[in-house]
Amino acid sequence: MIEIILVFIIGICIGSFLNVIIYRIPREKNIAFPPSSCPKCNNRLKPWHNIPLLSWFFLKGKCAYCKEKISLRYPLIEFLTGLLAVLVYTKFHHIDLFFIINFAIFATLLALSVIDLDYKAVPDSLNLLALTLAFFSSPDILENLKNALILMGGMSLIRFYISYLIKREAMGEGDIIVAGTMGAMLGTKLAVIAVFIASLIAIFPSLYNRIKNSDLELPFIPFLALGTFITWYFDDFFLNLWSRLYG
Ligand SMILES: [Zn+2]
Repeated sequence: MIEIILVFIIGICIGSFLNVIIYRIPREKNIAFPPSSCPKCNNRLKPWHNIPLLSWFFLKGKCAYCKEKISLRYPLIEFLTGLLAVLVYTKFHHIDLFFIINFAIFATLLALSVIDLDYKAVPDSLNLLALTLAFFSSPDILENLKNALILMGGMSLIRFYISYLIKREAMGEGDIIVAGTMGAMLGTKLAVIAVFIASLIAIFPSLYNRIKNSDLELPFIPFLALGTFITWYFDDFFLNLWSRLYG
């Protein structure tokens, strides 16, 4: 139990850093300097304004200086990252290099998802970081590399077909890099299932968009990330399902 709490605390601290990354990388700002300040009044945050999860609550979601509202998104991302750390831990049952790498990949995918929601595009720096880490997500690095290439090739192929059919560019290049990460982490079978699950979940918001008649572009990376996590976490279940369906 004590480990779980510890992992959660480390997780929310990493989540706090993810908030910095999500805010600064798309704006091409340095992620280490200067220290955080309020985007409205520019006052430097004191350390106690910066405690993951807790500060937002005792500041009642407002800047300590100018009372500008602080988005609920900040504590939410911290909480999600904490939860993510705990879930990844329950899969490994101990902290080792592979726990760290796999958690780092999912944390990066979380940051990419939020950035994709905001900008409908993601920075290559973070995306390639996730892919590179994914090569080392399990001991057989060559196998991981091979699976990454298969998924990236498959995703490019789908992209060519769909782009031809809808007569405009389907998906972003970012999606192809994420597909590589999925292949390396999950292996080809689970990665295909993950893409399928991602598409399945994405149907609902796209139907909602249709009904609302909004032509808002739907980001795909949050769905790919979610599909990746679900299949990774329940890998035995999905591999069983696959072998029962296809032998
Ligand atoms: Zn302020």
